[in-house]
Amino acid sequence: MSIPRLSDVISCLSDYDPDAVPVAQAQQIIRDFVTPIHAVEKLALRSALDRVLAEDIVSPIDVPQHDNSAMDGYAFAGAALEAGASLTLKVVATAYAGNGYDGAVGSGECVRIMTGAPMPRGCDTVVPQEFTREATATAVTIPAGAVKTGDNRRFRGEDLEAGKPALARGRVIRPADLGLLASLGIAEVPVQRRLRVAFFSTGDELRSIGEPLDAGSVYDSNRYTLHGMLTRLGCELIDMGVVKDEPALLEAAFRSACENADAVITTGGVSVGEADYTRQMMATLGEVSFWKIGMRPGRPMAFGRIASNGRSAYLFGLPGNPVAVMVTFYFFARNALLRMMGAQETPLPVLRAESQSAIRKKPGRTEYQRGILSVGDDGIRRVRTTGAQGSGILRSMVEANCMVVLGDSQGTVQPGEMVDVVVFEGLV
Ligand code: AMP
Ligand code: MG
Repeated sequence: MSIPRLSDVISCLSDYDPDAVPVAQAQQIIRDFVTPIHAVEKLALRSALDRVLAEDIVSPIDVPQHDNSAMDGYAFAGAALEAGASLTLKVVATAYAGNGYDGAVGSGECVRIMTGAPMPRGCDTVVPQEFTREATATAVTIPAGAVKTGDNRRFRGEDLEAGKPALARGRVIRPADLGLLASLGIAEVPVQRRLRVAFFSTGDELRSIGEPLDAGSVYDSNRYTLHGMLTRLGCELIDMGVVKDEPALLEAAFRSACENADAVITTGGVSVGEADYTRQMMATLGEVSFWKIGMRPGRPMAFGRIASNGRSAYLFGLPGNPVAVMVTFYFFARNALLRMMGAQETPLPVLRAESQSAIRKKPGRTEYQRGILSVGDDGIRRVRTTGAQGSGILRSMVEANCMVVLGDSQGTVQPGEMVDVVVFEGLV
């Protein structure tokens, strides 16, 4: 499949300015440029958890295979029920799940039946045991009005019908899906191969854990948040460490990354006026746009595709600031990576909550404030921010349980005003 050029994607936009890209436009460009990988592997059912289903699954059988009872009770023909009258029936047999009753059930007769047992021939109704009166081994009485015809009967194929789609490809396989596939007797599942993502940090001030922290240096934390986010997304990781700001080292890192991975994520070195070679190397190795996005945190970002020795990879040059890395990952890279994995689009769920305080905000950009969401005794969701919102304050992400998303047109938020929040729980 041919890959579009980034310039073609961008030239379709009438109002594109790399120095002022609205969040929605950046998201759209990324979405239009990124194409899914097509590589399928077959996995044993249990191993398919959290993987992306690569093919539609059509049910090979009816589930359940027979009409069966939804309750422990007595199966009988509902036609015998008379309004306002009780009904006494002779018990002719017992039907167990896995050991049903093959005989016919005549008029005036019933079968003691357990949940899941196939409905005996001639029966269409089950009266639950607890509704009956005077039940003995040989007879039972159904009080007037206890059940109506068809009650407590499950139909053959009511869960899944043979020949009908059971699961659509692109689904991220959840526990319920494992169970559903098992109910179809499917032992091996076609899934997309894992997406390979190479990532490294750039910046001469960065130290790796274990190295001494000399004056002016900081420990590299971005690779760890990225490790966490990418792992949760189900990617195969290639952690390339910290790469010093030297052209030869950067070139080697970028080349190796795009030769071995589907996507490359770097942090740092994309701000304008940075005295480093990162931007330069990205531009040399591929088609990369350098954006100033109308957002806070996370204004500078590079996006495109780089190539080396006939191999290429999508590139996300995230900013260096630790909070900006997480925000740009969640709101730009996450969807793109899911798309590359062949996953169905799953927009982040947005909740509405009442802001507990005023939030200063300038229209014209999107702000992602770290918030603490709670539900009051009155059942109303409320959110407050974590305080200092500097893009270097990673503690704000740790204290928060959600992100307050204030869109482009939003101005200062008044106390009590409703705002959008994206909760972290469930966000990979
Ligand atoms: P930059 O985008 O390279 O200008 O970096 C912006 C800020 O983020 C600077 O204060 C950097 O020290 C900091 N920073 C960059 N990369 C990392 C990293 N990997 N871990 C922690 N802080 C970082
Ligand atoms: Mg830097």
